[in-house]
Amino acid sequence: MSSKSRGLLFIISAASGTGKTTLAERLVQILPNLRMSRSYTSRAARAGERAGVDYNFVSRSHFEGMIERQEFLEWADVFGNLYGTCRPDTEALLASGQDVVLVIDVQGARQVTATGIDRTAIFVLPPSFQILERRLRGRSADSEAAMQRRLAAARAEAGAYVDYDYVVINDRLEPTVVRLQEIIAAERSRTHRMSLIAEEIIRSFEK
Ligand code: 5GP
Repeated sequence: MSSKSRGLLFIISAASGTGKTTLAERLVQILPNLRMSRSYTSRAARAGERAGVDYNFVSRSHFEGMIERQEFLEWADVFGNLYGTCRPDTEALLASGQDVVLVIDVQGARQVTATGIDRTAIFVLPPSFQILERRLRGRSADSEAAMQRRLAAARAEAGAYVDYDYVVINDRLEPTVVRLQEIIAAERSRTHRMSLIAEEIIRSFEK
């Protein structure tokens, strides 16, 4: 019975270089009922990215058509490319009882919140700006201009953590994954989400 109830929607946001995608990928490996939403984007696939796996890659005009038809739960222009979460895809997953995690930027998270949909928003912070910069420079083949843009966005958006339900510091990967699992477990245990199963158990107490 409880397995057929509507899934939970989680949002994870963080500056690029914080490790949010790696964290979300680890979570869906560990938690069988959790799925990562596949975003649509107008940007070109990078080497090694697979269409329909990492993203649904579409043309800018296709993306704009989806905006017009109101097919996005949220969408945003991030560094000049359009990214969005398909509303029907997300709705179908939630309705089938799957929990869903959206790895989206702060603009997108604000839009999801504004719809009033039941969601749990988690902001991931690096241990410090200096560590973020070191991680970004270590992993990325970005130009210096692109690097400066990412760092400026990180500075501008870090304060948005106050609008989230949870804040997690990604110091080391595995303890952070455990912390995220604990948040998900806590959300699943909220009284209003447990009421169906709790009522069934309570009935067994009756004479
Ligand atoms: P990248 O191009 O490096 O894959 O992603 C750039 C940024 O876009 C990341 O901060 C990522 O979280 C954000 N992003 C990816 N998909 C979506 C989405 O569907 N909606 C929004 N609002 N942001 C997204």
